[in-house]
Amino acid sequence: TPEPSLEARRAYELDRAHVFHSWSAQAELDPMVVTAAEGSYVWDGAGRRLLDFSSQLVNTNIGHQHPRVVEAIQTQAGRLCTVAPQHVNDQRSEAARLIAELAPGDLNRVFFTNGGAEAVEYAVRMARLHTGRHKVLSRYRSYHGGTHTAVNITGDPRRWPNDQGAAGTVHFFGPFPYRSPFHSASPEEETERALEHLEQLIGFEGPDAIAAIVLEPIPGTAGIMPPPPGYLTGVRELADRYGIVLIADEVMSGFGRTGRWFAVDHDGVVPDLMTFAKGVNSGYVPLGGVAISERIAATFAHRPFPGGLTYSGHPLATAAAVATIEAMRDEKTVENAAHIGEAVLGPGLRALAERHPSVGDVRGLGVFWAVELVADRATKEPLAPYGGTSVAMGELVAACKAAGLLPFVNYHRLHAVPPCTVSEAEAREGLALLDRALETADRHVRA
Ligand code: PLP
Repeated sequence: TPEPSLEARRAYELDRAHVFHSWSAQAELDPMVVTAAEGSYVWDGAGRRLLDFSSQLVNTNIGHQHPRVVEAIQTQAGRLCTVAPQHVNDQRSEAARLIAELAPGDLNRVFFTNGGAEAVEYAVRMARLHTGRHKVLSRYRSYHGGTHTAVNITGDPRRWPNDQGAAGTVHFFGPFPYRSPFHSASPEEETERALEHLEQLIGFEGPDAIAAIVLEPIPGTAGIMPPPPGYLTGVRELADRYGIVLIADEVMSGFGRTGRWFAVDHDGVVPDLMTFAKGVNSGYVPLGGVAISERIAATFAHRPFPGGLTYSGHPLATAAAVATIEAMRDEKTVENAAHIGEAVLGPGLRALAERHPSVGDVRGLGVFWAVELVADRATKEPLAPYGGTSVAMGELVAACKAAGLLPFVNYHRLHAVPPCTVSEAEAREGLALLDRALETADRHVRA
């Protein structure tokens, strides 16, 4: 193994001495130094190249260091680095126009934030003020961000230690055919029972108390479960029937990840509010936001919206968004993501599932795929407990990295989520590296 450079060693030591990391026991960390990145690859502190099948935190949809985006940021830095949110800025105006053009239906106005969690916070606030109601329904097996409201509507174990004082957040089960909470025999039955469950829950919570239903159209970190046919349309109908605002959280699924601009586009569903971040400018400069329907925007036409941020629509971030969206259009990046899913990752991962007894399920679309690792295919016992990790999963990640592959891992799942720009050859290379690494996981399968 090559040794880390002096610079990398110093960065590592300063990190361990002074940087406080997210979601972690600080003394138990051994983070990787990243010194450079380009396209689908990153380089570690020892100069080793790794194929980035994580897109970092599933955000570098356009790949690393895209020259058009880098240049747009440099140009904007030379022109005007920052401007207060109350002033007009050409990059913010243009980014909002482009997002409104891409967003479904009449989501024609954009409130910009610095990231995904803030977008969710503000979307919920808008829904509460618009309806005059307080409760928010969200799914188990979801992630909506780390701030107060966002983490409390989150349906994963990261909510547990943060679970104080968020009145009116109620969770429901979404469809998940592989581990169906409804014991359904078919996707159609899963849709029917999931919608029946949601409508019952609305009835028991009191429709007049419910401001919003928040969901990821395709849950991301929680397991990339594309909904069975009819589910999202059914949720839209329930929201309409009971006067509830539908918030689609497209922070991870938006901007090309699923092979369409937004995951709701697969079902033709138009939410009332749509949160985005990550892929909007691939995270080159922090940016998120809420796309707002005309009806909800009208609520705040003559009544002040009580919320704001110093950096709302920051010029460097919105200049990066304009360049990202234009480059993705010109280079047919979203079409590439769809093609890679259909032609390479889908068939390739399904072939791996056949060969490796540790793979219990493979699902996804575009460049958005989950591989579920199990100790026993018959019982579907996960290879790490819910909310935890295991020796087996630790070994799998180490084997991937040793082979030159950087995966995204959550509990007992490995997600294959390369940039939307990934080439066929790179996607095949990733599959070959994963094929080898999975042999370590197979050794933990009970015969
Ligand atoms: N919503 C979803 C669906 C996400 O995947 C994430 C982050 O992973 C967030 C919200 C929070 O975004 P951020 O980390 O930018 O605050």
